[in-house]
Amino acid sequence: MLQEQWVKRAQSIAIPSKAFIDGRYVDALSGRTFDDINPATGKLNGKVAECDAADVDAAVRAARRAFRKRDWAGMDPRARKKVLLKAADLMEAKSEELALLETLDIGKPIRMALNDVASSIATFRWYAEAIDKVYGEIGPTGDNDMSLVVREAIGVVAAVVPWNFPLLMASWKIAPALAAGNSVVLKPAEQSPLTAIRIAEFFAEAGVPEGVFNVVPGYGETAGKAIGLHDDINMVAFTGSTQVGKLFLQYSGQSNMKRVSLECGGKSPNIVMADAPNLEQMADATAEAIFYNQGEVCTAGSRLYVHRSMRDKVVEMISERARAWAPGDPLDPATSFGSMVDEGHMKRVLDYIDIGKSDATLAHGGAQVRQETGGFYVEPTIFTDVKQDCRICQEEIFGPVLSVIDFDDPEEAIAMANDSQYGLAAAVWSKDISTALKTARRLESGIVWVNNWDGCNITVPFGGYKQSGIGRDRSLHALEKYTEMKLIWVRL
Ligand code: NAD
Repeated sequence: MLQEQWVKRAQSIAIPSKAFIDGRYVDALSGRTFDDINPATGKLNGKVAECDAADVDAAVRAARRAFRKRDWAGMDPRARKKVLLKAADLMEAKSEELALLETLDIGKPIRMALNDVASSIATFRWYAEAIDKVYGEIGPTGDNDMSLVVREAIGVVAAVVPWNFPLLMASWKIAPALAAGNSVVLKPAEQSPLTAIRIAEFFAEAGVPEGVFNVVPGYGETAGKAIGLHDDINMVAFTGSTQVGKLFLQYSGQSNMKRVSLECGGKSPNIVMADAPNLEQMADATAEAIFYNQGEVCTAGSRLYVHRSMRDKVVEMISERARAWAPGDPLDPATSFGSMVDEGHMKRVLDYIDIGKSDATLAHGGAQVRQETGGFYVEPTIFTDVKQDCRICQEEIFGPVLSVIDFDDPEEAIAMANDSQYGLAAAVWSKDISTALKTARRLESGIVWVNNWDGCNITVPFGGYKQSGIGRDRSLHALEKYTEMKLIWVRL
């Protein structure tokens, strides 16, 4: 579709506005709503039900009832698979609408939103296909005994997710959680509730029983906290900041010791050795690593460690590419770089850019742009001469701001890359297989890319070391995460 067509469609799209509890769309019990703003224009998309502790409790009670009824948890996995595949088909039929809702919610370019929706659908299909291929174990015993080690759904699983990839982050959690037979309560971020609300009816239409899937839009400090402290939720799967991730560990300790899995922040290092192959590809990937999704990516390659011998050349190549990531209207299919998620976040990113201007050398960008639109846009920004201990090198900015740091010795690069509270992703570029793999093994990071950035898909795990999280999303490891292990010992 052309830009004008997307704009026209955006003007007439129905904005989902309610919570989804026990198989029905409902208002918040308090009757309160919050404003859902389009950050590309600063205008109101619509008003959304503001759930709080009372709504969370209603959703958990519905989820528990459904779990105990066993219509979903006790269903033949092949039947559950069929339902989830049908839900994926229904989502696919509405891909454009879902992508448009994401773009209106967070200012993500429509082209990228379409990709995210496709990946989300693929996630549902992958877990649906997996669920009837997972076996238990039989332990070694003598003739008089038999031991069965079985995996069972945990019960009520809550997913608390961020705004940067609203549907995809939700899918990484709810697809395996539902596939494993759990009941789910999903709390989308307050900046991006629309697709979470919309997909609820696809699950219902596909045959997910009432109460098995619930959505409670609302603020973190109220609805999110109520989830964390609820005594009848068995597990919280969280994606968001490290600061809030730590709160969920505390909430668990203060309540029922619910399981907590965390996908949190990052400050991912990208190491370009002196013998890096194919510099053109490296520069493309390095620019994409920090500018894709406006840098609002947990794995953003925000620290570039480059060998001093090639520093100037590499900075020039990346600056040239930064020009191609020019901020534009997210509804234009040619746009690859949209707006920041909201005004507060834009100001936070601009504050970091100010810090960078005093602590390092501004090599590219650094300004707010497109103010005439009413939206919240920041230019792709590159700093050189960045010191390892300064704030723009240590703290997660979650915006399009690249810090370039030189090194002479690969050992120094590895030490600086590991000098971070985070450990989500990293990359190393080298022609020498030994240098590349030895470096990969020494990086304290859940993901290491060799001679690429962001190579991955649903088949492999995703998650971090250190304060980037606990546990993994994606792959069969994530499916296991949404189950409990039970031993049944039979005396024959
Ligand atoms: P955030 O931590 O502010 O919010 C995440 C979720 O937690 C939201 O639903 C929010 O409403 C809720 N929340 C906020 N405060 C809460 C509180 N006091 N109690 C309970 N819940 C609360 O994060 P964000 O700004 O939405 O997202 C950006 C962060 O997410 C970045 O740090 C980014 O790195 C991280 N992230 C990590 C991954 C990953 O897979 N590791 C993926 C995407 C984003």
